[in-house]
Amino acid sequence: MAARFRTLDEIPPFIALDRNETEALKVVLAAYPLAVTPYYASLIEADSPADPIRRQCIPDIREIQEDPQVSEDPLGEGDHSPVPGLIHRYSDRCLVLVTNVCPVLCRHCNRKRLWRRRARVLTAARLRQITSYIAARSGIREVILSGGDPLTLPDESLARLLHAFQEIPHVEVIRIGSRAPVTLPMRVTEDLCNLLRRFRPLWFNTQFNHPRELTPEAAQACERLVSVGIPVSNQSVLLKGVNDDIETMRDLLYGLQRLSVRPYYLFHPEPVKGTGHFRVEIEKGVRMMERLRREISGLCLPRYVLDTPGALGKIPINGGARSTTCDFL
Ligand SMILES: *Cc1c(COP(=O)(O)O)cnc(C)c1O
Repeated sequence: MAARFRTLDEIPPFIALDRNETEALKVVLAAYPLAVTPYYASLIEADSPADPIRRQCIPDIREIQEDPQVSEDPLGEGDHSPVPGLIHRYSDRCLVLVTNVCPVLCRHCNRKRLWRRRARVLTAARLRQITSYIAARSGIREVILSGGDPLTLPDESLARLLHAFQEIPHVEVIRIGSRAPVTLPMRVTEDLCNLLRRFRPLWFNTQFNHPRELTPEAAQACERLVSVGIPVSNQSVLLKGVNDDIETMRDLLYGLQRLSVRPYYLFHPEPVKGTGHFRVEIEKGVRMMERLRREISGLCLPRYVLDTPGALGKIPINGGARSTTCDFL
């Protein structure tokens, strides 16, 4: 974490930003900052502007060329936040934003709106508000720790948080959403896993988007979690130029299965401001998933979904996507 690249000057030479580009990108960084771990940067192929790892972490001028009409929060998460730091959109589960810090600032992030705020973690007072809200609603049986990346917290803070939620009698399950196995896999230490196992049933969801992210280090992080009885699932985002072709997606899904990681969701990219250059035609996603459904093991198949504002929430996108009346996109 301490060695992350935060400025363009720190980006290693093998990534080869040209000089014109560097000037232009300074403007992007003023709107959307940069953070890349040396580990994740090391996965970038040298001198290759279209590299799928590079696209996910190195800023792109198109991030600030987006139509000003495009929303920063199309899912209206802000409107479903009864207490600051808590998003409650589904009756039986809620999501807690425990920090806004991440090891890598993913350029396709759908919570880019939180990047501009200074780094912060949930305070004790906020946590008390959140736990009181949950404690007063017996319908909430699952709490999802998200952010930001919860694994940027020190072990002791994470244990305190997990304990606070586990103590609520009707909270049966805790879920952690973290991209650390992908962007900072050395964070998933044996000590961390021994801590997490005390809070089972605990489910861990991560986000591998490309088969080249399935390195030996990432495999070890997943193996450590799985071996203490924590199921690991994957939620990819369908991203133009990263994984929007069938061969890449098949390699990713097969690779996840080899690591005992269950493909859970494939999210259609949301229309979030600053991410337009990642957007894929929904028909393309449908064609890809239809072929995969015919060709690959059911255990490798994620649900292809579109998250939408309001009561519909995450809706499965099937072959009949055209007939689904949804004017969200
Ligand atoms: C996606 C999401 C969840 C989890 O939904 P699942 O379908 O159970 O994975 C929970 N809360 C919010 C606010 C979400 O956006």
